Amino acid sequence: MIKFLDLQKITQKNADEIKAAVNRVIDSGWYLLGSEVKEFEKNYSSFSKVDHTIGVANGLDALRLIFRAYIEMGIMQEGDEVIVPANTYIASILAITDNRLIPVLVEPDLTTYNIDSAKIEEAITPRTKAIMIVHLYGQCAYNEDIQQICNKYSLKLIEDNAQAQGATFNGKPTGSLGDASGTSFYPGKNLGAFGDAGAVTTNDTELSAVIRALANYGSNVKYVNNFVGLNSRLDELQAAVLSVKLKYLKEYTNFRKQIANRYLKEIKNSKIIIPSVNDQDGHVWHLFVIRTDDRSKLQEYLLNKGIQTLIHYPIPPHKQEAYKDLNHLSFPITEKIHNEVLSLPISPVMSNEEVGKVIEMINEY
Ligand SMILES: *Cc1c(COP(=O)(O)O)cnc(C)c1O
Repeated sequence: MIKFLDLQKITQKNADEIKAAVNRVIDSGWYLLGSEVKEFEKNYSSFSKVDHTIGVANGLDALRLIFRAYIEMGIMQEGDEVIVPANTYIASILAITDNRLIPVLVEPDLTTYNIDSAKIEEAITPRTKAIMIVHLYGQCAYNEDIQQICNKYSLKLIEDNAQAQGATFNGKPTGSLGDASGTSFYPGKNLGAFGDAGAVTTNDTELSAVIRALANYGSNVKYVNNFVGLNSRLDELQAAVLSVKLKYLKEYTNFRKQIANRYLKEIKNSKIIIPSVNDQDGHVWHLFVIRTDDRSKLQEYLLNKGIQTLIHYPIPPHKQEAYKDLNHLSFPITEKIHNEVLSLPISPVMSNEEVGKVIEMINEY
């Protein structure tokens, strides 16, 4: 069986170094708010070319803390609107609604799966305060048109960088393109921890201080609380693991790129639509997502050939029961994407033979 993602194999690649880091933390006797988190934050800031990284408990918290901080700073308030792609993972939307802000959904481009910047301006109202772009499947969603819209209407640009650590726009890393960015180190992400973990990156010093306090009970000085905060901290063990894995991220991303390049070149089947790439160097291929009319048939066929695939995602946020008040909305492109997408195996530990088999089986379909 060609697994969709073999985390055990990925961990094995650097197991000794990771175990040494974990043992160092265990032996230190210091498990929260210590030197490992500081070190990782420094490493991740230099990787992302930003001034500040704040390690938090998970990706959803990273995103919702950004909005919460803007509310604390008086920049946003309850009922304000945030533009967000309609085909994103539910967490992007949850980060908005958790803060009693209103998500305004905008259709993606059918070929890149990223927000269609030509459709953003018509969604802007006097209540719009921010655009959240999502670098979906590892491809950078930022472009100059989006930046110009933000400048024109004085909107904050927030990046959901959960799927795209290491992606770039003209050489600039995602996570450094907007006013603030939230990312996730969920185990299956390109940079994955051994459990939940996430981070905010920003060049905004005030925002970073507010987020750091909010994530630690609203406190910057122990037992002095400036905000009604929450507990969302990155722990020392995860930070130590992430510092090791960050060193190898570029190498792992190159494996993903090589696999993606083979898929792009060698998959030839009129029933299959391969994804389009804006800027090939900048895409980190968290997922390789194809489209096809009869998805379940293809998925079953591949499974019978020993190839595991997944669907990212089967139901768009506006059709979820959780968001009943959005259920009446219609986003034909988003709905088409959710009906047709299928994610092929791609990871730093797939062999050439395995990649070849996936291509051969798809071409024979
Ligand atoms: C994974 C993910 C998140 C949430 O990250 P968690 O760490 O699981 O909370 C947010 N947005 C997108 C696009 C994601 O893929």
